[in-house]
Amino acid sequence: MASFRELLAGAKSRIREVDTDEAERLIQAGALPLDVREPDEYEQGAIAGAVHIPRGNLESNIEGRVHDRSAPVVVYCAGGVRSAFAAETLQQLGYQDVVSMAGGFNRWKDKGHPWRVPATLTPDQRNRYQRHLLLPEVAEAGQQKLLASKVLLLGAGGLGSPAALYLAAAGVGTIGVIDMDVVDASNLQRQVLHNMDRVGERKVDSAKKTLTAMNPDVNVVTYDTRLGADNILDIIDGYDVIVDGTDNFPTRYLVNDASLLKRIPVVHGSIFRFEGQATVFAPYDGPCYRCMIPEPPPAELAPSCAEAGVLGVLPGIVGSIQAMEALKLVLGLGDPLIGRLLAYDALEESFRTFKVRRDPACPACGENAGPIVIAEYDELCMPHPKAPPAA
Ligand SMILES: [Zn+2]
Repeated sequence: MASFRELLAGAKSRIREVDTDEAERLIQAGALPLDVREPDEYEQGAIAGAVHIPRGNLESNIEGRVHDRSAPVVVYCAGGVRSAFAAETLQQLGYQDVVSMAGGFNRWKDKGHPWRVPATLTPDQRNRYQRHLLLPEVAEAGQQKLLASKVLLLGAGGLGSPAALYLAAAGVGTIGVIDMDVVDASNLQRQVLHNMDRVGERKVDSAKKTLTAMNPDVNVVTYDTRLGADNILDIIDGYDVIVDGTDNFPTRYLVNDASLLKRIPVVHGSIFRFEGQATVFAPYDGPCYRCMIPEPPPAELAPSCAEAGVLGVLPGIVGSIQAMEALKLVLGLGDPLIGRLLAYDALEESFRTFKVRRDPACPACGENAGPIVIAEYDELCMPHPKAPPAA
């Protein structure tokens, strides 16, 4: 039977140890710091950007948090013992480029390397977001990202309502809502943020009441104004993601051009009668709205929602998909709908996805596009969603 000393010596003989200077060089070159200490140790100070998985949860959580087994990892604990065992375990799990930091965080601090006190969740937040914390892909670091994130909703209507509710519930820390209308009883068939008591109230105020009553962590910033060329750059500035629930072409083109300029991804959604669509426009990473729909259809082919109608629940489904895509973008999770258009048919109850490609000749994001000019576009009615491109 091996003693602790023999176990440790054995582990150290099978891994690579680095000193704190080498660890800092590796981290600066892109290696991932992995902190395997207990939560109470981590909360008092850690290396910036560290992924925190206590040693006891390492085997069960690492695959969900570090997907790339060839990625360089610097494991550390307080003194270099737990990290030595952790490094060996990671090697056994197939991680190919793992080093253990000798002397651990204590020596790192003593030598004057940079560190920070990580933001931590309160007990109430731990309780509220428990189901997120159980997901290794989200966990505390992901929840902190959500709480620090800022998502702007264009419209507190059919699409904005479900998107706002779910984003607030998930703990997106700042939710901007822009809408210039008042609550009308004829909205309530689909705009679930509002209710009969609020008829006649500003929609943004009603949205704020609903969202803050649901989650006091959320700071709701309201813009009771019309989104226009004169204010859009100021309004969208600083947001991480824009969720577009607008229902007219001029605004969509305006949002497209401004978001390209500010390099903010837009989660687009549209609905018509029994059909909906969603996609993500990631500036210069994927197609933009102008790549997908180079110009608006003639107004006579674009009946408005008021003229054509929309079945309740449909905006709930499309707006929820938009909220999901926004969360994924904030968390850097999975495959967002970049370059893909998701089309939903409620009558068939079917989802289809279609590829959307960047247009090299796009006047907004193409190779030879001129400087982006933010301008008002002509008023048009609500569009019929463009027929999905051939698969
Ligand atoms: Zn484009």
